[in-house]
Amino acid sequence: MATTKITKKSDGTLEVPDRVDIPFIIGDGIGPDLWHAAVRVFDAAVETAYSGTRGVSWKEVLAGEKAFDQTGEWLPQATIDTIRDHYVGIKGPLTTPIGGGIRSLNVAIRKALDLYVCQRPTRWFKGVPSPVKRPELVDMVMFRENTEDIYTGIEFPANSEDGSRVKDFLQHEMAVDFNFTPDTAIGIKTVSETGSKRLIRAAINYAIEKNLPSVTLVHKGNIMKFTEGAFKNWGYEVAETEFSSHTYTWSHWERTKAEHGELKANSELKAAETTGKVIVKDVIADNFLQQILLNPQDYSVIATLNLNGDYISDALAAIVGGIGIAPGANINYQTGYAVFEATHGTAPRFANTDSMNPSSVILSGVMLFEYIGWSEAASLIVRALQDTILQKKVTVDFFNQMTGGELVKTSEFATAIVDKIKVDFDRSI
Ligand code: NAD
Repeated sequence: MATTKITKKSDGTLEVPDRVDIPFIIGDGIGPDLWHAAVRVFDAAVETAYSGTRGVSWKEVLAGEKAFDQTGEWLPQATIDTIRDHYVGIKGPLTTPIGGGIRSLNVAIRKALDLYVCQRPTRWFKGVPSPVKRPELVDMVMFRENTEDIYTGIEFPANSEDGSRVKDFLQHEMAVDFNFTPDTAIGIKTVSETGSKRLIRAAINYAIEKNLPSVTLVHKGNIMKFTEGAFKNWGYEVAETEFSSHTYTWSHWERTKAEHGELKANSELKAAETTGKVIVKDVIADNFLQQILLNPQDYSVIATLNLNGDYISDALAAIVGGIGIAPGANINYQTGYAVFEATHGTAPRFANTDSMNPSSVILSGVMLFEYIGWSEAASLIVRALQDTILQKKVTVDFFNQMTGGELVKTSEFATAIVDKIKVDFDRSI
C-alpha cells in the first residue's frame, strides 16, 4: 500500500503523497472551538480543489491540558516523535503549565525540533476593521529567529546566590564597569553567527523564490553592537557571499558611495531594483515600529531577532485586524520540519463559547498547504475567507469594531467559508 506519510527526497525537498496524514494538536482554551471550525474549511478546500484525488487524514497528537489529563505529561515524547515522523504538524494554542520546569510548551516544541524560523505573514483582508488609514499597504512576511536571544531563559533572580556569582565574575574577572547591587537581576542574551545566518538565509531564499522586492534586517545594533549589530553584519555577509547574483545590499551601496560617490551608488541601486534583485537593507528596531505605520509599503520580508520579532509581529497584527487573524509557522528549512500555529494564546475566558475568530488557525492551515505545495487548496481558502469578510459576516472581535456587520459564531463563520469555497469554485469552472 502507498505511504500516507510525507517523506524527504534525496534533493532535500519533501515528497507529499496524495493521501497524506498530518498530525494536529487541538490546543487548550479556545483551541478546540477554533480547530473544529478550521478543519471543516481545510477538508472542504482540499475536496473541492482536487475533486477527491487528494485528501488529508488529520491525526491527533497530545499536548497541553488534554495530554496532562490523559497521560500525566504536558508534552509526551510520542507527540514530538510523531510530528518528526510526518515532517509537518499544526497546533492550537497551549496553556503554559505553572511550575513543573516547562517554561512554555510552544518553546519546548520549537526546541525539540529546532524550528529556527518563526514565520509570520501579515496582510490585510478587505473589510477588516483597522486602526490605520491605509492597511492595504501592509504586506510583510516576518522571519523571526526562534531559538536564541534573551529567550533562552538564562536568567538569575535578584538577591540570589547564583545571581551574585555571575555578577562577581563579571565585575572581578571581566572588569565590567557597572554598579551591580544585590537586588540586580541578570539575564543573558545569546546571538550566534550560525543562528543568525541560517535565519537570514531562509528569509533571502524566501524573497527570491516568491519574487519579493526586499529583505529588511531589523535590529538594535546601535546599542547592542556584538549581538544585534553582529546580526546585521552577518546578514549583509550572507547576502553578499551567498546570494550576490540575486541581491543588492545597502552595505554595498555605502561602499560604492564612499569610493565612487552617491550618484554612482544610486544608479547601481536603481539598476538592481529594475532588474528584480532583492534589496537587502537594515533598519533600527524602534524606527521600524514607526515605519510600519508611516511607510509600510517600503517593507516586504523582515528578518529579525527573537524579542524584536515578538513585539513587531503583534504591532503588525494589530494594523491588519488583530491576533484573531494572525497565522504563523515554525520551520526548520534544513530538516523540513514545520509546525503551523495561530500566534495568539488560549484566551481561557472564551473557552467553549464558540465565539472567537478561527481565521488565525485557518490561515495557519493555508501556510501549511502552501508549504506542502497544495497551493490550489490554499488559494480557495484565502478567496473564500475574503468573500465572507466582505459580506460582513464576522466574529465578535471584528463585529465590535465595524458598523453594519453580522455577528456570527466561530462555527457559523467556518460554515460561511465552506459554502463560499464551493460557490467560488463552481463559478471559476
Ligand atoms: P491570548 O492571546 O490567549 O488572549 C488575549 C486576548 O486576545 C483574548 O482575551 C481575546 O480577547 C483575544 N483573542 C485571542 N485569540 C483570539 C481569537 N482567535 N479571536 C478573537 N480574539 C482573540 O493571551 P493571554 O490571555 O495572555 O494568554 C492566555 C494563555 O495562552 C497563557 O497560558 C499563555 O501562556 C498562553 N499562550 C499560548 C500561546 C501559544 O500556544 N502559541 C501564545 C501566547 C500565549
